[in-house]
Order: sequence, then structure tokens, then C-alpha cells
Amino acid sequence: MKLIEKDGKEVFQRFGIPVPLGRLVRDPEAAAAAAAALGGRAVVKAQVLTGKRGKAGAVRLVDSAEQASQAAAGIIGLNLGGEQVETILVEERLEIARELYAGITLDPGRGTAVLIFSVRGGMDIEEVAATAPEAVVTMPFDEVEPVRRHTLYAMAKQAGLHGSELVVVVDVLFRLMRVFEDMDATTAEINPLVITAAGKAIAADAKLVIDDSALFRHKDLIPTKTEGLGELEKAAQQAGVAYVPLPGGDVGVIAGGAGLALATMDTVSSMRGRPADFLDVGGGVSVDRMAASMRIVANTPGVKGILVNVFGGINNCELMAKGVLKAIDEAHIDLPVVVKMRGHSQEEGWALLEAAGFEVIKTGTTGDAVRLMLRKIGERTEAHGDLR
Ligand code: GDP
Ligand code: MN
Repeated sequence: MKLIEKDGKEVFQRFGIPVPLGRLVRDPEAAAAAAAALGGRAVVKAQVLTGKRGKAGAVRLVDSAEQASQAAAGIIGLNLGGEQVETILVEERLEIARELYAGITLDPGRGTAVLIFSVRGGMDIEEVAATAPEAVVTMPFDEVEPVRRHTLYAMAKQAGLHGSELVVVVDVLFRLMRVFEDMDATTAEINPLVITAAGKAIAADAKLVIDDSALFRHKDLIPTKTEGLGELEKAAQQAGVAYVPLPGGDVGVIAGGAGLALATMDTVSSMRGRPADFLDVGGGVSVDRMAASMRIVANTPGVKGILVNVFGGINNCELMAKGVLKAIDEAHIDLPVVVKMRGHSQEEGWALLEAAGFEVIKTGTTGDAVRLMLRKIGERTEAHGDLR
């Protein structure tokens, strides 16, 4: 998950990295008010997930509330890299003496994180890296070989810093490594890391990407904007289930375990059906998580029937059956549903589903369940004269 600049800066601030004072706004009037609160001199910046805003004219320096309002009006609605600007950051304007670059990302080749630093930061860092690679230092590190402060001093010195600049920059680098590790980031970047006229190091920009698989550890992080996720994916993330919709499918799949989910999808395909999604409910399923899974799949575009293929090991069949029925009842799901479940508390689960009139595959195979599902979808389609 990639954070917008303002959200990234809030994280940086929590870790003690100095950031400019600023406020998110959504219209020119609020931009003017925010600039006035900063004394008029401000920076007005588009909050989009794509970079290179400076070159696109989406970062503007202003000297008054009036100018801030005009700048915001000019930026809101711009299309940057396919993204419409809706949110603006109005920030205290820094007196820039130098623009440095500091970034940490994963190096798949080495299999470690790598710290990248340059005294020639700013908007043209890619060009610097291409034409003057000696101006960019890189330093791999991992849990086994953590970076110590003195190593950072040596590196920053080699890059051309000295005196108090060296001290303030190394402090930021050290904290950025904390951000990277503690936040399970895949990228943590400050470009530019500004040295102000007064000699302070301040993060004038922030790019922070959190590993999606680690988001459960950062539930307190509430992003202003979520990248590319539809409502169903967000609901799945919230429910804690792995879900991927598949365009063009019609058989909704809910399975216990990624392996069983893939096997179920393959079986659907081998019988000339089209799976509409991948959904793995995971372990320790609650009634609510199962119900959420049912709602998500029922709302997946194209779904004409839901096939639930689960095993009760860590999971409990009775709870899963209750979740299936809860969703059908509360969300008024009017689709054919076939459940294949066995294992822990299977009799209780089967009894609940059968009492509610659902067909349960008790001892049959996944193939049996898929066949029944496809037949039910076929019957429903014929009955409705739907030949899509
Ligand atoms: P990006 O182009 O999307 O990476 O946006 P940045 O936040 O990095 O801003 C682009 C450029 O705007 C920076 O490299 C700075 O030169 C300039 N800039 C950003 N904030 C300030 C500021 O507070 N004062 C001044 N003078 N320039 C700024
Ligand atoms: Mn930048």
C-alpha cells in the first residue's frame, strides 16, 4: 500500500523525522485559510500517489492566501498519471539551502534492504543516478547486518557532508531505517531531504510503501487514499480474507486455504465453468468472516452461483455454516449456493445448512460439488432465459 505524501509524513513525524507543518484541504477556500494560518508563504502540493508532481506543475510556491487559493484551483482536477487530483497539501514553505536524497528500498538481487543516499537530490535524481552514479551511494543492510550510526557517518561524509549537516542528516537516515523496519515498508524515500538556510534537515517530500502482507500489523494506519482497490477488495482486506476478483467468471468460489481455492478454481475450469474469483477464508474463521466472504463473492460482478469448499481443521464447520446462512439471510443473497464441507463439527454444520434447504456435499469430491454448482447455474440461466 502506497501512502500519499501527507500520510507518509505523519508516519515520519512519529519516528522523529522533521517534516514541514501542513494541512490537507479539498478546495481553494480551505487552501487560502491554511496558507493564511502559515503566514501566507506556503507550498501547495497535489496529493496523488504518482510522483513527479513538481515537473507537472502540481507543486506551487505561493506568497499569500490569495495565491494559495489560485494555486489550489489550478491543481484540483488535474490529471496526473491517470489520477485525478482531489486533495491538496498546504505546507509551510522551507528556505532551501540544499536538496539531498535519502531512500530505502528492497534489493531483490541481493535479497536485502538497501539505503540509497545522495547530496544531489531533488527532482532530477534519476538523471544524477544515470549520468553521475558516483554521486549516489548505496549501502545494503538486513537484520543480520544492521547499520550502525558510525557507518552512516562514514557514508554521509564520503558523500560530501560535514559538520552540523552531517549530524542532522545522519539522524534522519537512522530514523528512516527505523521507519522502514518498524513499518514493514518496501520503500521509504525522502526526496528532497532539505537542508534549510538555518541548517536543519527536513523531509520536504515522503514516499512510503507498506508491504500489503504486513498491513494487519498496522491497523492504526488509516490512509487518506487507498490505491487501486475497489470496494470489494477493501471489504476483503477489512474482513481479513485473501480475495482476487476474476473478470469474465460466473462461479463464485469460497475456499478454506489457498491450495484448496486454486484446486477448486481449476476444477471449475476443467468442467468448462469460469471461476469469478479467488477467495481464501484463512484459518480460525468466525461467523462474521464467513458472512463477509459470502457478501463479497455475491457482489463480485458476473457471479451466478456460490461454491463454498471448506475443511474443518482449525476451522469449525458449524461456525462456517452459520456464517453462510447469516449472509444469505441478512444480505438477501438470491443465488444458488453449494457447500462442500467436512471436518471439525461437520454434523452440526450440515444440519444447519440442510434445515435451511441447501444442498450439502458431505462425502463427495470437489468435482461433485463443482458439477452440482454448474448444473444449478445452468438451470437458473435457462429458467430466466438468460443466454449471456
Ligand atoms: P515531486 O516532484 O512529486 O517529487 O514533489 P516534491 O515534493 O519533491 O517537490 C518538488 C520540488 O518542489 C522539490 O524538489 C523542491 O525543489 C520544491 N519544493 C518542495 N517544497 C518546497 C518548499 O517548501 N520550499 C521551496 N523553496 N521549494 C520546495
Ligand atoms: Mn519528491
